[in-house]
Amino acid sequence: MIFVTGGAGFVGANFVLNWLKNSDEPVVNLDKLTYAGNLENLSSIQDDPRHIFIQTDIRDGALISQLLAQHRPRAIINFAAESHVDRSIHGPEDFIQTNVVGTFRLLESVRSYWNGLELADKSEFRFLHVSTDEVYGMLSSTAPAFTEDHNYEPNSPYSASKAASDHLVRAWHHTYGLPVLTTNCSNNYGPLHFPEKLIPLMIVNALEGKPLPIYGDGMQVRDWLYVRDHCSAIRRVLDAGKVGETYNVGGWNEKANIDIVKTVCGLLDEMRPRADGKSYVEQISFVTDRPGHDRRYAIDARKLERELGWTPAETFETGIRKTVQWYLDNPQWVANVQSGSYRDWVQKQYADQ
Ligand code: NAD
Repeated sequence: MIFVTGGAGFVGANFVLNWLKNSDEPVVNLDKLTYAGNLENLSSIQDDPRHIFIQTDIRDGALISQLLAQHRPRAIINFAAESHVDRSIHGPEDFIQTNVVGTFRLLESVRSYWNGLELADKSEFRFLHVSTDEVYGMLSSTAPAFTEDHNYEPNSPYSASKAASDHLVRAWHHTYGLPVLTTNCSNNYGPLHFPEKLIPLMIVNALEGKPLPIYGDGMQVRDWLYVRDHCSAIRRVLDAGKVGETYNVGGWNEKANIDIVKTVCGLLDEMRPRADGKSYVEQISFVTDRPGHDRRYAIDARKLERELGWTPAETFETGIRKTVQWYLDNPQWVANVQSGSYRDWVQKQYADQ
């Protein structure tokens, strides 16, 4: 039995689905169901007895402690977070509450649970904290990619709150001996991505005939990884990672935002041509840059590749094609997310229980 927090969000839901496809080990999924948490992401395992969903806030230490004592997991993977940089600029409070206070409360509940385990279970237990490359700050265009030894220099309220959570996890290991692992991954893309983030936003806006807004000159560089490769890396770190260590996760796919958007447009031109025969590129519109927008992130994932033998299954070209295809195949998911009707569905699920 494992616990996953934030398993109704983009990466967490992909992880839970992938986990149950590859193993019979049950998952208890703890998620607050904020605007970003979507039970519809998990509808294919709704009746699967190996999946137990519990709506809860990771700040609720008493409930988490009770659930730990009841289910006795061998590991916890912490995905729960506020994750959108733009939202963190407009309202940082939730980011501090969930990413910092929430991680702290979770660590405290887990520490007390772990302390009470028998010796053999205690040494097997793992707390895996899922984090981001944004904690490292910004790279110049010529600087080498971030390694695990790079200084923490977060620049947005989001990355600062994630950096704080990483530090708490590290301290709980060094101070209390909690067996932790941390992963710092680059930008993910793929199925189930909430359409406020760059790639799904561009796909959805393009199909709706809306402008494709690009911040500043569009030359901000990010390193992209298909979400299922992020999931396989987490699994690998959980299975074989060395306690107390940090692993960078990335796909060696540095791309400027403008190139990402042009790639999406090109795929849509091919897979769902516009009625007027013009390219979706015509819908690109440059907008005022985000304040404090980091220019470049790049991840050096060689430690994970060398020490744990992990490699991504997708190239950017194969992954982005699958992603565009998924959005074309799932218009109802997009419509539900946009209309909030999945929330009504959630209410109904609970009412029926
Ligand atoms: P997301 O916003 O899609 O999902 C976050 C999930 O956490 C949601 O289901 C939400 O309901 C839940 N949640 C939020 N606050 C909670 C709370 N207080 N208690 C319980 N649940 C809560 O985010 P994501 O993109 O899936 O990211 C998941 C994790 O992976 C985050 O920690 C993020 O920092 C990290 N990460 C994401 C990316 C990426 O590109 N998406 C890259 C690297 C790291």
